Amino acid sequence: SSSSSKQDKGVNVQVILRCRPLSEDETRIHTPVVISCNESRREVCAVQNIANKQIDRTFLFDKVFGPSSQQKELFDLAVSPIVNEVLEGYNCTIFAYGQTGTGKTYTMEGGARKKNGEFPSDAEETMKFVDDKSKKPIALMEDGKGGVFVRGLEEEIVTTANEIYKILEKGSAKRRTAETLLNKQSSRSHSIFSITIHIKECTPEGEEMIKSGKLNLVDLAGSENISRSGAREGRAREAGEINKSLLTLGRVINALVEHSGHVPYRDSKLTRLLRDSLGGKTKTCIIATISPSIHCLEETLSTLDYAHRAK
Ligand code: ADP
Ligand code: MG
Repeated sequence: SSSSSKQDKGVNVQVILRCRPLSEDETRIHTPVVISCNESRREVCAVQNIANKQIDRTFLFDKVFGPSSQQKELFDLAVSPIVNEVLEGYNCTIFAYGQTGTGKTYTMEGGARKKNGEFPSDAEETMKFVDDKSKKPIALMEDGKGGVFVRGLEEEIVTTANEIYKILEKGSAKRRTAETLLNKQSSRSHSIFSITIHIKECTPEGEEMIKSGKLNLVDLAGSENISRSGAREGRAREAGEINKSLLTLGRVINALVEHSGHVPYRDSKLTRLLRDSLGGKTKTCIIATISPSIHCLEETLSTLDYAHRAK
């Protein structure tokens, strides 16, 4: 369905596809490219030649950003409208979904940095940061009002955009170190960066009002963790958890888009935690990231299928 018809139904889920360029190394060894992006038609085409037979599959998205797209374009067209909703007092979530090495972190962290100046300088901003406590599973607690919070969560009050970037950088450095120490070939943790904004406003009658909005930036675990790979490496349980959260997220988004009665928020920690920012009067954006390389084709097709189903 087109984005305009979705808006008519009051559904606010956007699915964006971004393809990274070949790396210098990949270019040097002439890695074959199997992905073509048509930004104006919002289409991505995967082409494969097997035994002289050409197979191609085309996928339609709300927006497509090809290999030469810049962070600023993505921010202006996809992120900025969401930031505006947050400043109006809504809760919104942006997910990055895709295989490790396809640009999830590049897109999310570079994108956040571009927000400089977007936040009103007089706003009081509260920052919440969910740490990757390496191996310990995070404990979700019910707050008794239908909400959920994380035990041991670090929370910092900030007043300028620059302080936000410092915290984001601190968190992302911790995550990089943890992954290097564990010598990970793939990212097995989700990272959630939440910014809560409180804006003080005065009504014409001189009454003070506080408007609060929340923005969640979610850099998901590498999608290659889904099913088979993890189990083969004897990491069945961990892979099972990641599996469950990524698959549940897909089902939750699907239920929201389809307006099917039951939304299975409770089936994973990730969706329980983000429940107040998914569905209802919120905006959700999924940025699916892919590589153009022939060597990633199998994972790319599975990402395209996942993201496409979420539409
Ligand atoms: P992921 O978080 O999905 O594992 P990264 O964000 O770490 O992937 O990206 C992998 C590498 O590709 C990094 O070196 C990053 O700088 C580069 N990269 C990713 N996306 C882009 C892009 N759109 N343009 C240029 N370089 C990119
Ligand atoms: Mg990453």
